[in-house]
Amino acid sequence: MTKAFDMNEIINATKTKGADVDAVVVGAGFGGLYAVHKLRNELGLSVRAYDNASDVGGTWFWNRYPGALSDTESFCYRYSFDKDLLKQGKWTSRYLTQPEIIEYLNGFADKYDLRRTYRFNTKVTATHFDERTGLWRVATDRGEQVTAKYLVTGLGLLSATNKPAFQGVDSYRGEIFHTGAWPEGVELSGKRVGVIGNGSTGVQVITALAPVASHLTVFQRSAQYVVPIANLPESEDTIDEYKANYEAIWKQVKTSAVAFGFTESTTAATSVSQEERERVFERAWKRGGGFRFMFETFSDIATSREANDAAADFIKRKIGQIVKNPEVARKLTPTDIYAKRPLCGNDYYDVFNRQNVTLVDVKEDPIAALTPKGIRRASGVEHELDVIVLATGFDAVDGNYTKIDMRGRGGVTMSEKWKEGPQGYLGMMEADFPNLFMILGPNGPFTNLPPSIETQVEWISDTIAKLEREGRKTVEPTQAAVDEWVATCQSIADMTLFPQAQSWIFGANIPGKKNAVMFYMAGLGNYRSALDAVKHTNCATLMFDREVVTA
Ligand code: FAD
Ligand code: NAP
Repeated sequence: MTKAFDMNEIINATKTKGADVDAVVVGAGFGGLYAVHKLRNELGLSVRAYDNASDVGGTWFWNRYPGALSDTESFCYRYSFDKDLLKQGKWTSRYLTQPEIIEYLNGFADKYDLRRTYRFNTKVTATHFDERTGLWRVATDRGEQVTAKYLVTGLGLLSATNKPAFQGVDSYRGEIFHTGAWPEGVELSGKRVGVIGNGSTGVQVITALAPVASHLTVFQRSAQYVVPIANLPESEDTIDEYKANYEAIWKQVKTSAVAFGFTESTTAATSVSQEERERVFERAWKRGGGFRFMFETFSDIATSREANDAAADFIKRKIGQIVKNPEVARKLTPTDIYAKRPLCGNDYYDVFNRQNVTLVDVKEDPIAALTPKGIRRASGVEHELDVIVLATGFDAVDGNYTKIDMRGRGGVTMSEKWKEGPQGYLGMMEADFPNLFMILGPNGPFTNLPPSIETQVEWISDTIAKLEREGRKTVEPTQAAVDEWVATCQSIADMTLFPQAQSWIFGANIPGKKNAVMFYMAGLGNYRSALDAVKHTNCATLMFDREVVTA
């Protein structure tokens, strides 16, 4: 077995008696990188970090598909804690492209010298809490074993790819790629490409490939509500204005609900006239942005069926106006509620007016199998394809957790704990898993994510600092606290329309996955208040130094 790691590489002395390092961090996306910085550079702990990617970036390392773009606006898809980094921010358009985000995260890793703490190309395969020592034992696919007092996981909530088990997949002789594991250097121009899936990713990849593929066939299972993204150039003056106002901007972001850098509407669509609704929707359509359309227009689109129908009808009418072929327009028009993660795209519906684009409805005529030449539908129609793009999404939130053999007190496995659905106290902790901190774990906020990630990492770091200061060994939530938090998340979710749509938000996209509440939907401002309350009370929900059972 390989030695756990090279002791010479550990710059900070290990404070925890008997442990190889104070903390293990898993993941090198926004979450993991910030955790390494906080724990190693600020708290002075010794840290070992892992990612199975070959470099930093997380989501933005893996999702290099054509058209990959944030749909959070550039000014607030970034860390806020470092004022100099904010001042140095560079971007050219309203939204950041994948290359721009990876450059940003590379710059962040360089600035804080984070890479030296990472073992890349290394997957964490097991994490066992040892009750005798009070330490985590972490094992990797490279045969490394390391013990640590704290385990901080930033495994990503949209990271474990969902590859549907299509019959005949191995017989296909062309190339097949999942958007979430996109290799470098794929050339698709002049090829016959099939895209399966039209969620946020599918919308981006479809609009990017339509002008370059010789023919593009879109395999759509559910029609989507897609509003314009309006990715306009941003001038230096505009960017300077954001920079000058950052104090107020971040204050607003962190006290808002969705944290997307705009003020959510407080006017109910049900309280205004039909003409006023049309005016507001039209303005939002021109302004662009999926979250803006759902949350900046009116306060009740996600909570009132009448308001939701009004927004949905508006988008349906736009589809009818844009798409020239009435049969294609019919297929593109959603029939369900407007309550998945809001989508936006670059002239998405216009793509289907192109001669080289075919829309296939796989609800009407399902994919029967992949064949050596392409995709065969149940009706027997075969589509010959050089390349198949799986834009089929992710086993969201707990997908990467259930792939690790995670065991807490008494050897209880995380899979056992989560058999009725994943659960996380404050979106970060689980009962019987002491000193485990999950960044964007189950039941965390449903928002623009960097501000939520920062919020969580700072809370984790403060909690660890408290333990170190007070000479404590462990912290974990009571089971009652977990149950109560999950029940709170459920009751908030039940006030919205989101549970009524079939999507990854409740696990409906993975066959056999338990449908469960996976988010705290009361917004970042309320979430931060909930965290503050825990920090500032006597923490009745948290147990410190729970008695260690000796063997
Ligand atoms: P990730 O960036 O997903 O990083 C997790 C890392 O952990 C990965 O590198 C993974 O390889 C590694 N890992 C997992 N398991 C293991 C293991 N067992 N061992 C070792 N390493 C492991 N959010 C927004 O707010 N706005 C957006 O516009 C937006 N756009 C998105 C676009 C795409 C295409 C996708 C897929 C997601 C988007 N998201 C967006 C969500 C995005 O995931 C988050 O914004 C953010 O990047 C998550 O950061 P993270 O560090 O939590 O996780
Ligand atoms: P997704 O929203 O889950 O969409 C997956 C798509 O694949 C859906 O159209 C789904 O159809 C289809 N699909 C899945 N299995 C299928 C099967 N067996 N046969 C046919 N079709 C199948 O995944 P995603 O598009 O990757 O997006 C996931 C999340 O990542 C987003 O919601 C967002 O949070 C984030 N993201 C953001 C951006 C951005 O704009 N910045 C870009 C990409 C991703 P059904 O709808 O019928 O299930």
